[in-house]
Amino acid sequence: MSEETHQCKYCEEQFDEEKMLKKHYYVEHPKKPNPLNNKISRKYGRIVGNIERCFFAYEKTYAVLSTSQIESWYNERYKNGITKQRLSHFLRTRSQFRKVKKARFKSTNLTESWWSLGDLEKPVEVDIGGYWVEVPLLD
Ligand SMILES: [Zn+2]
Repeated sequence: MSEETHQCKYCEEQFDEEKMLKKHYYVEHPKKPNPLNNKISRKYGRIVGNIERCFFAYEKTYAVLSTSQIESWYNERYKNGITKQRLSHFLRTRSQFRKVKKARFKSTNLTESWWSLGDLEKPVEVDIGGYWVEVPLLD
């Protein structure tokens, strides 16, 4: 087995990318521990895993999600919930999440960010709606 192959430890199916294997664990073995989940940050692995799950749930419709969208999805499903501030922290500090767009609500200081899980395969048009003014990303 080459180093490039990622194998499921439950059913032995193989994947070219770790990302695909990780998704496989969520989709095919939802009740079993996801061995890739806690590799980097064990302490908050469950929360970060839940955030990733949101991207998988939406991926057929949207590859890019706003912080508010993720927050609603999360709080509808998990009884402990998450605040927008805490969610933003995880989105900013975990390398698998990429900021795609930032915008400010017209005439206010209220900002919103849009995120992808991993790199986008191709650029995606994000409809931010008429009341948002795009803010350039600094990094
Ligand atoms: Zn499997």
